Amino acid sequence: MSLDADGALAQAEEADRKRAAGEEASLLGIPVAIKDVLNVTGQPCTCGSQILQGYVAPYDATAIAKLRAAGAVFVGRTNMDEFAMGGTTENSSFQVTRNPHDLDCVPGGSSGGSAAAVGGGIALAALGSDTGGSIRQPASFCGCVGLKPTYGRISRYGLTAFASSLDQIGPMTHDVRDAAILLEAMAGVDPMDSTSVDQSVPVYTAALSGDLKGMTLGLPQEYFVEGVDPEVEAAVRAAVERCRELGAEIREVSLPHTEYAIATYYVIATAEASANLARFDGVRYGSRAEGGTDPIDMYGKTRAQGFGEEVKRRIILGTYVLSSGYHDAYYLTGQKVRTLIRCDFEQAFETCDAILTPVSPTAAYKIGEKINDPLQMYLGDMFTATVNLAGNCGLAVPCGKTSTGLPIGLQVIGPDFGEAQVLRVGHAYEQSEAAS
Ligand code: GLN
Repeated sequence: MSLDADGALAQAEEADRKRAAGEEASLLGIPVAIKDVLNVTGQPCTCGSQILQGYVAPYDATAIAKLRAAGAVFVGRTNMDEFAMGGTTENSSFQVTRNPHDLDCVPGGSSGGSAAAVGGGIALAALGSDTGGSIRQPASFCGCVGLKPTYGRISRYGLTAFASSLDQIGPMTHDVRDAAILLEAMAGVDPMDSTSVDQSVPVYTAALSGDLKGMTLGLPQEYFVEGVDPEVEAAVRAAVERCRELGAEIREVSLPHTEYAIATYYVIATAEASANLARFDGVRYGSRAEGGTDPIDMYGKTRAQGFGEEVKRRIILGTYVLSSGYHDAYYLTGQKVRTLIRCDFEQAFETCDAILTPVSPTAAYKIGEKINDPLQMYLGDMFTATVNLAGNCGLAVPCGKTSTGLPIGLQVIGPDFGEAQVLRVGHAYEQSEAAS
């Protein structure tokens, strides 16, 4: 998307200077690629949209400020679906991003640029944002680790909002330990985000014991259903067996409202998006259309020109589900089902420490294959959007490949603020795979 070579070199020199002076910080001199949805002082932040052409961020998102304080170097911005709406990065208005494991395939989305950069070995680590799966699914498609933290674990200040009650920032890395290090640097309460939670931040790397002794892991029958690719199912079941060998007790759990998650997610996410995107009107940020005869005409022209098809589809859908007469039937019902989905997880976590599932029903697919069938694409979020609706945390870890060499992802879902647990499970599994 954009490269800040001069800025990165200046930051790297500064890091060298600090290192030579004996200063220490957890990420001193470590380059991190940033999804183009987060504000980094002095860098463009397009959100993959024409409407933000020309916008330069005047401040750091809190997650960025914290990484900066820990010594990280910001190299540039990664491509994404416009305003994080999508599952393939094909909705970017700027360019196509390809899957490093097969250049004809999508990298997943919406954080596809970050996933391709890490999975392709051109970035050490990256940040993504996850509203319904956008960190975990592209991580799974590109063969890297991706963590969606618990809602409120990392401040959203400076993250361009898509659906505020679902969005979370998270790390995308080569291994689980790196994800733990980045999470630790970014987590914590922030006076600039009233939904960030005042809970102490554990030393996540200390949880990485390498074994699963004493842990109980749940397998939800609703996540092993028709529509899951047999190769994906086989790889995930093999990973479950590996976790058993590492000392975990495996038991069946039930998340009975899973089948309603996609419908619920697309009601709530579009409703919130329609309100959040009202701010892009040609006055405050980015580009403005020529020829508006009055302010209303100018807003209309700017938005008609500046937003792509998927963003418009969602604004229209979100406005509809919030409109008087339909609000109770759709939005309110969606909120009630969301509570049921959350209760499912609460009950399941009474009997297990973490839950194992596929990240996505399939591995990556061909560019162009699903772009004209939004419903088909929405179904790909069925195992990830549940976690955003409930608010807890989920980790994607690579668990093998298909016969054509495409990565498959295991999802480890944890309870609220259960990041240490999911990282422990992901790390033990990953290390034992690496050793075998
Ligand atoms: N694929 C989902 C969507 O299109 C998730 C996006 C996200 O998590 N940002 O909304």
